[in-house]
Amino acid sequence: MSGDRQATTGVLDGPPVVRTVEGVRAAIAAWRHAGETVALIPTMGYLHDGHLALVARGRALCRRTVASLFVNPIQFGPTEDLECYPRDEAGDRAKLQAAGCDLLYAPGAGEMYPPGFATAVTVSGVTEGLCGAARPQMFGGVATVVTKLLLQTLPDVAVFGEKDYQQLLVIRRFVRDLDIPVRIEGAPTVREADGLALSSRNSYLTAAERAQAPALFRTLGWAADRLHQGAEAGPVLAEAVGRVLAAGFAKLDYLDFRDAGTLVPLDRACRPGRLLAAAWLGRARLIDNVPVSPENRSAA
Ligand code: AMP
Repeated sequence: MSGDRQATTGVLDGPPVVRTVEGVRAAIAAWRHAGETVALIPTMGYLHDGHLALVARGRALCRRTVASLFVNPIQFGPTEDLECYPRDEAGDRAKLQAAGCDLLYAPGAGEMYPPGFATAVTVSGVTEGLCGAARPQMFGGVATVVTKLLLQTLPDVAVFGEKDYQQLLVIRRFVRDLDIPVRIEGAPTVREADGLALSSRNSYLTAAERAQAPALFRTLGWAADRLHQGAEAGPVLAEAVGRVLAAGFAKLDYLDFRDAGTLVPLDRACRPGRLLAAAWLGRARLIDNVPVSPENRSAA
């Protein structure tokens, strides 16, 4: 192979890939031996700029970054999109290379859940309602796989997106409850120019649906403004649901206003809150959320 060819494939290939617990531990042990800090960025792949922003955050905090790619079967329900979830490992590696990520950990399902696997991590409280009601198997699956990823890699920091806000709170909860020695870092949602939150599942949208999709974020912004003006949540949420449906969404799993730390329902913007929604557009279930802060309340 010529030097040129090697240089080209080197760029396209991306960072080294390990597929076993033993392999990822060996790579990280070498970094530790050199006194280097480590950030983990867990993903299900089909990477976009939202994922890459998490890599950038990891690089800002630690000397080394490892991204994991694992489409976790136990967090999908029987009628959900596990089989057709978008995948492009070669493309993901190229993007990780460009983002300066040091290692890709991409275990198979047999490595993560070998025969006889019989353990689950269950979180109560913050898992109840919202996505936990619409997708009852999801947070148990997420808590179990993220616990395993953290114990397999033992990073200093693990970075997660606020895009999956309830998931971020669930992860913070079990990391604290199980005394897992890792700092959980949340990163803001990365959006398209028209406001749509980047998501691997946006690839399910037709061109017409893609044009309708920003209405979800737009409506959350409208509702946040109303709450900042001192409005009561009930009527604001009812009108927001109407706006999302009028924009072409088929149905909503939820659109609600919750305490930003506990996810307990709030009536008004009296303390830090979060507006959260999940809504169906064609084959895609889109989720999004925005902060509502009492400091932004206008003096009405
Ligand atoms: P996923 O591959 O969808 O499981 O997401 C992997 C990680 O990327 C999670 O921590 C997500 O919250 C985060 N993430 C997904 N979309 C975005 C986005 N648009 N902006 C920031 N983080 C995101």
